[in-house]
Amino acid sequence: MVSPDSGKQTILVKLDLGNTELKYSPGDHLSVIPKNSPQIVTEMASLLNVDLNDSFTLNGSGKTSSYPIDCSIGSALYSYIDFALHHYNRRQLVTLLQYLIQNTQLRKEKRSLLRFYLSIQHHTKGASVQQYLLNKYVTILDILKHYKSTITFEQLLTISPIMKPRFYSIASSLSVHQKEVHLCVSVVNEVHTNGLLIEGVCSNFLSRCNKGDLVQAQVHPTCFKLKQNNPIIMVGAGSGIAPFRGFWEEANSNGHDKPLVLYFGCRNEQDFLFQGEIKALSLDIQVHNAFSRRPGLPKTYVQDKIYETFGGPWELILEGAGYLYICGDAKMAQGVMEALRKRLQRERKWDVEQAKNYLDTLENNGFILQDVWGHT
Ligand SMILES: Cc1cc2nc3c(=O)[nH]c(=O)nc-3n(C[C@H](O)[C@H](O)[C@H](O)COP(=O)(O)OP(=O)(O)OC[C@H]3O[C@@H](n4cnc5c(N)ncnc54)[C@H](O)[C@@H]3O)c2cc1C
Repeated sequence: MVSPDSGKQTILVKLDLGNTELKYSPGDHLSVIPKNSPQIVTEMASLLNVDLNDSFTLNGSGKTSSYPIDCSIGSALYSYIDFALHHYNRRQLVTLLQYLIQNTQLRKEKRSLLRFYLSIQHHTKGASVQQYLLNKYVTILDILKHYKSTITFEQLLTISPIMKPRFYSIASSLSVHQKEVHLCVSVVNEVHTNGLLIEGVCSNFLSRCNKGDLVQAQVHPTCFKLKQNNPIIMVGAGSGIAPFRGFWEEANSNGHDKPLVLYFGCRNEQDFLFQGEIKALSLDIQVHNAFSRRPGLPKTYVQDKIYETFGGPWELILEGAGYLYICGDAKMAQGVMEALRKRLQRERKWDVEQAKNYLDTLENNGFILQDVWGHT
């Protein structure tokens, strides 16, 4: 959805609901269960010396009950085992090292692993062991690739956390896309401080999906709902625009006739998601862009734009006669609330506490709604 030279990939994922009974309304969340990449699965299978088509049966309760009764090794490696090292706790990492020590016949390797094991025993807090390993590796596969020793598939099952679903704000309205649910997803590809590439599991899974692939997903209703025919201000950055696409599609279908304002933060004009769609609407959306990376120009964030353009529909929100929606990064949401607080202080000659309390009251009464997460 953004230009190839922007260096950031944001994708619009269109899921066909087919014959499912799934229903949603704009503002709801969709949880997606991702699959690991074929590359990591193939490499892991080769290191463990297992055949992806072989099956296994687990007896017992607890974590093992998360697997189907009869599960193929391929299915476990693709859909159940979480390889991201930062999701492993101290106990799991220590057990991994014990297995590696136990499984190697090479004396030099055993000695080096033992030294490493003893050194991490000095770290009494779980976090420091994780930090130690995270400074060097990104996934459990990186550790296995580093040592000549390996672990068995059964041992991997006992130490690995189970893959968790990721949540997405639904970016469509059924009134426009019957039988479809859309997501606006930032694809996570970052370089770790240790120099290795971190590929976000779910965002890369979605970006790899082809037409016809099955995606396991579930709708989660939220209170982040469009209040039709009221003045509305929507504030988002990056993929935080997602729920607002559903809002304007619904508002457009229902002939919304009150002010509709969008504050959108991104790096530059090329990153302005859905700009073509917004222009093509019969609905009149007043758009304020905040660009944070334009050569030679100062960085502007949505909170700066809000502070700058305060007035008009903002007065309606502050009087409880309209609704403010904020979506995206938690830091941005905090910045927006601070900009509002400062403007309130200035306009009404209030002190910090008075302005904060006023905004809290608006939020508690549902006039300010937030759909906030860690990444945009
Ligand atoms: C309610 C809600 C709504 C959301 N809506 C959207 C939306 O509409 N669009 C959207 O794009 N996102 C949304 N998100 C975020 C989304 O759920 C995912 O968090 C995001 O897509 C990244 O998931 P991933 O599996 O690709 O990355 P993950 O694999 O989960 O990695 C996530 C982050 O963890 C860190 N990390 C990963 N591996 C390591 C490692 N080995 N060591 C150290 N750090 C590591 C990195 O910083 C990475 O960015 C939402 C989140 C919530 C809670």
